[in-house]
Amino acid sequence: MMHLADYLFRWTGDSAYADYYERNLYNGVLAAQHSETGMFTYFIPFKSGGHKIWSTPTMDFWCCCGTGVQAYANLPSGIYFYDEQNLWVNLFVPSSVVWKTKQGQMQWTQETNFPQDNRIRLIVRSELPLEAGLRIRIPWWAEKGSLSVNGHREKATLKPSSYHAIKRTWRKGVTVELILPQKLWLCPLPDEERKASLMYGPLVMAGITDREEVIQGSVSNMANWIKKSDEKRLLFHAHGQAGDLDFIPLFEITDQKFGIYFDWKIG
Ligand SMILES: [Zn+2]
Repeated sequence: MMHLADYLFRWTGDSAYADYYERNLYNGVLAAQHSETGMFTYFIPFKSGGHKIWSTPTMDFWCCCGTGVQAYANLPSGIYFYDEQNLWVNLFVPSSVVWKTKQGQMQWTQETNFPQDNRIRLIVRSELPLEAGLRIRIPWWAEKGSLSVNGHREKATLKPSSYHAIKRTWRKGVTVELILPQKLWLCPLPDEERKASLMYGPLVMAGITDREEVIQGSVSNMANWIKKSDEKRLLFHAHGQAGDLDFIPLFEITDQKFGIYFDWKIG
């Protein structure tokens, strides 16, 4: 499906396909590899209290593990795109790119710790000044984002699920800074509104638990009772529950038992 979204994006330039790609990158591709052993999952169970089943170096390696390897080989291909006038930035990943235009070559680096942090910097590294367009994806989940060029804040509001276009002469050192605030929200099952997964920006958050959970609280002020409990990591603690419940991104789950869809008794 990501291959298909990639083709559809190239044909249409529609940010919806890039949004879809990002969502699958973090919650599908990255969630399918064990961060310490490098092994791949057979599948990711959605039942609460389940765990990921990992391949082993010599005994267990299913067809899905091969797909996992392919998906990882593809990681760099979804970050940047170009047409005759514009460089397109689709994903927020520390990287660099050389864009060959008719007037000459442009080199950019992207500095970010996204999704742990919401700040993204794009810096021109090439010597030759060039006039060109830059189109930056403003993701579907990013309300109240902001953008500045060399410290000057752009007045235009950044519309989620669109591209913000900048056309100018780019010189060495010009820096575009983008802030994309992430927030907690609930993504219900299509046919069962009370069963939902917790999301943080584009990330599915897994609750670390060995059983079904019923979560109580108010949805309007979720940030008041599901709080970040570690400065460096995306670790959240749900307060006021019957038992302790911590959430981390699904892609960080290795051998813990976890759940994704819980019953939310929310006001
Ligand atoms: Zn398979």
